[in-house]
Amino acid sequence: MRVSLSRPVALICPHCGHAFQADVWVVVHAAERPDLVVDNG
Ligand SMILES: [Zn+2]
Repeated sequence: MRVSLSRPVALICPHCGHAFQADVWVVVHAAERPDLVVDNG
């Protein structure tokens, strides 16, 4: 089942005010995208 979902969002830097776009992961399914899961072990 495809669960992981990313979407581009427009962001504005709170420091200098410049606009940029970034992909934000809305949902991350660990089994589908293990590369996105941080292993703290
Ligand atoms: Zn900035």
